Amino acid sequence: MTEIAHYIDGARIASASGRSQPVFNPATGEAENTVALASAEEVNAAVASAKAAWPAWSKTPALRRARVLDRFKTILWDRADDLARAISAEHGKTHDDALGEVTRGLEVVEFAIGAPTHLKGDFSENVGSGVDSYNIRQSLGVVAGITPFNFPAMVPMWMFPVALACGNTFILKPSERDPSASLLIAEWLTEAGLPDGVFNVVQGDKLAVDTLLEHPDVKAISFVGSTPIARYIHATGTAAGKRVQALGGAKNHAVIMPDADLDMAVNALMGAAYGSAGERCMAISVAVPVTDAVADALIAKLVPKIEALKIGPAADAESEMGPIVTQAAMERIKGYVDSAEAEGAKIVVDGRDFKQQKQGYENGFYVGGSLIDDVTTDMKVWKEEIFGPVLSVVRRNSYQEAVDLIGECEFANGTAIFTRDGDTARNFAQDIEVGMVGVNVPIPVPMAFHSFGGWKASIFGDHAMHGMEGIRFYTRIKTTTQRWPTGLRTDAEFTMPTLG
Ligand code: NAD
Repeated sequence: MTEIAHYIDGARIASASGRSQPVFNPATGEAENTVALASAEEVNAAVASAKAAWPAWSKTPALRRARVLDRFKTILWDRADDLARAISAEHGKTHDDALGEVTRGLEVVEFAIGAPTHLKGDFSENVGSGVDSYNIRQSLGVVAGITPFNFPAMVPMWMFPVALACGNTFILKPSERDPSASLLIAEWLTEAGLPDGVFNVVQGDKLAVDTLLEHPDVKAISFVGSTPIARYIHATGTAAGKRVQALGGAKNHAVIMPDADLDMAVNALMGAAYGSAGERCMAISVAVPVTDAVADALIAKLVPKIEALKIGPAADAESEMGPIVTQAAMERIKGYVDSAEAEGAKIVVDGRDFKQQKQGYENGFYVGGSLIDDVTTDMKVWKEEIFGPVLSVVRRNSYQEAVDLIGECEFANGTAIFTRDGDTARNFAQDIEVGMVGVNVPIPVPMAFHSFGGWKASIFGDHAMHGMEGIRFYTRIKTTTQRWPTGLRTDAEFTMPTLG
């Protein structure tokens, strides 16, 4: 077993904290490595490195900063397979799914390369007689990103390309469940020409996070993870005077109207509910068929597909769904199905007893896909985020009842409607109190040049991630108002100028 280290000041640094924890390969259930858990001193060293690097990096022309990111982008394209393999080995997702995550992250790098345009200021002449005024956007200083296990490459890339392009220096605290992607990214940034100290990685747990939250030299925190932690990060970080964007958990509903293309909706739900084993913040975890007839037809079409899901390791190219990230998460997911059963819902497809038969993978953290019908809003399985391959069906009788159901939900990350009616779709997109909306699109993850973020308990703070929201988050505006005294103009002088 090797210990997965920090990356500080342009190099991998072995930890001296004496604290570590195992990193599992969920496909086999084996602990294959350990990850260092940073001490406060190690976090402070990373902050000091980033602080020292900031003056020069922030004054580097945006065009040159963008060129470093452009070289990084080329490396990412060339080595996407390597990064995807590192992700799958610790997260468990299939290789193609991991490649998709790398691509969606890379698109943010492409957006950030446009920084010279995004950072252009405003200028107003003659705001008063002989007075001009202009705005510029300047970097904040040292900023930190704290990221979840489910997208170990893409979520950091929602943050650091934009932060670096804007002239900040960055500290990444990745999830301790799948930390290796962060080190590949750090090394490739260095290879692309990023100066030492501009991007640092500290591996760790709550101690590392709390040290970042309290450190006076950390000016902003970007967080993505579960709602309780997001709420804590926002409260603690803002109390310490930092700018904070904290994205939380989700419970995404898909409304299936009677006029929907049912086969399209079924295929969309399969990918959105069971892809990546449901461990996506934009996964659809609740289907809301409008009318019982639609519900019955939908379930009839879903059942054989769920039962036929190919569940296996990323090493098997046939796999459609990989294992769950940890044993504890797997047990928690099964517990949700137990609770639904105990509360009177109907378990239509039961993934709890799934056994992986493939040789060498029998001890992996696998569950089958589950489908639960007759779910009601008083059940735990509706109220809480499951974050696993479990699709609940909440039946409704009208469009308005479906909209009201979504309005009742604590979370408001994403949602989708399946319909052929433009009027219904337009009303839904306009009225629904959710941050990201799909119309016949099950996972409406905005492109890099738009911004990603939910509403309600799915976000704490005012700025969504990447796109122009990201530029605004990672910069502060400065407005200069200037008047030049008149009368300084002199006639041309042809003698050698001398002082005094
Ligand atoms: P998590 O909240 O457990 O962990 C996220 C990060 O916070 C990790 O780096 C972890 O080390 C750190 N952390 C955990 N406990 C902490 C504590 N007590 N104090 C300080 N830091 C702590 O989330 P996870 O299980 O890694 O990821 C899954 C969650 O992330 C789901 O809820 C999912 O919906 C959410 N998520 C949301 C989005 C979004 O955009 N809204 C995107 C991806 C994931």
